[in-house]
Amino acid sequence: MTPLEYDRTHIWHPYASLGNPPPVLHAKSASGVEIELADGSRLVDAVSSWWCVAHGHNHPAIVEAIRRQSERMCHVMFGGFTHDPAIDLAERLAKFAPAGLDRVFFADSGSISVEVAAKMAVQYQNALGHPERNRLVALKGGYHGDTSLCMAISDPDGMHTLFKGIMTKHFFAEKPGVPIDGEWDPADIQSLRRVLEEHSGEIAAVVCEPVFQAANAMNFYHPQYLREMRRLCDEHGALLIFDEIAAGFHRTGPLWAHSRAGIEPDIMTVGKALTGGHMTLAATLASAKVADTISNGRPSAFMHGPTYMANPLACAAACASLDLFEHSDYQSKVAKIESLFREGLSPLRALANVRDVRVLGAAGVVEVERLPKQEDISRVIRKHGVWLRPFANFIYAMPPLVTDDATAGRIVEAIADLSSAPPGPAPADGDFHE
Ligand code: PMP
Repeated sequence: MTPLEYDRTHIWHPYASLGNPPPVLHAKSASGVEIELADGSRLVDAVSSWWCVAHGHNHPAIVEAIRRQSERMCHVMFGGFTHDPAIDLAERLAKFAPAGLDRVFFADSGSISVEVAAKMAVQYQNALGHPERNRLVALKGGYHGDTSLCMAISDPDGMHTLFKGIMTKHFFAEKPGVPIDGEWDPADIQSLRRVLEEHSGEIAAVVCEPVFQAANAMNFYHPQYLREMRRLCDEHGALLIFDEIAAGFHRTGPLWAHSRAGIEPDIMTVGKALTGGHMTLAATLASAKVADTISNGRPSAFMHGPTYMANPLACAAACASLDLFEHSDYQSKVAKIESLFREGLSPLRALANVRDVRVLGAAGVVEVERLPKQEDISRVIRKHGVWLRPFANFIYAMPPLVTDDATAGRIVEAIADLSSAPPGPAPADGDFHE
């Protein structure tokens, strides 16, 4: 059996069948914006490996930070120990984070950081004498990860419906409908207001992906929604959790997507680009109010503690990544990518299979009636040397933030080619991925 045959028959890939596996490419190395395959060909990583490779692959400064740390200590349990990479990273994150969110819990993936945020909210309410406030409110069209709590607060009609039986029931408000560049309509917040008015006694927190609902809806919505959300949370004694895992670190332009709204959450999750896509790490940042309330409650301890919490290699990678964020003008780089995507993708609205084109920051989305056939997707990837991974109704690019003009142009051409391909078959039931 060849190694690739072994892969096909023994290893699950994300959201893929092991009995009838979709094609996979054999990656051998990666640097800058490119991935090199076993046959020597190269592909531009137009999805920055699920949106985390912000500075490009194998960035020398991050690789060097990991190497240096690996010579000292690859891991030590965080229960009973601490170490410089964790302390450095916490201090640096506090400088980056919205004012006041300087209490940090290091998690090993984005999903876990969201679980931790939810547990913080519940423990906070419990400490205030409200154990009955143990539900969250989330937004339809949202996505927060694949673990069971994350599934339970992601779009209720999305990819996780099969698992309804093991999900705790939370509350949902309608998907925000006013686009980021539209005229604000107060009706957009009515659904959230109603949920809070009817159930506030049960609600610990409201959670959302600020401005950019990514993996489920590719929806860029109006920042006024967040201002109203903040006000409603305060009115109803609910904490506000922003999941900046996908939208943070300049993906939409500013460092944090929510900064457009000029308000701050009580808890915020970050991941993906935190290490620039070099190690798995996420963090849940909380305000002193949240941390102190939990600490003054019973138990005083915050009840979570994964084995690889604050892994030193990952923290060292994140410190190097934050240095790059600090010293690069990503806001301008992203503005350039945005204008090239706008110019190149907007004309695709005229195509028969295209419903809408949306661009914000370094994210360009073509919403189609139906995705092209897999053969067409593979053909376009090969022809243009651009890796795209369309899902649901979306052909999109979220490339590394260091993508230059010529490469952005190649990405636009590949997306244009794919958007012109004939629509493929309707997806089989439950065949939904990302
Ligand atoms: N929240 C958001 C907004 C995400 O986009 C994702 C991943 N796509 C997650 C949480 C989950 O992160 P992870 O895959 O690292 O568990």
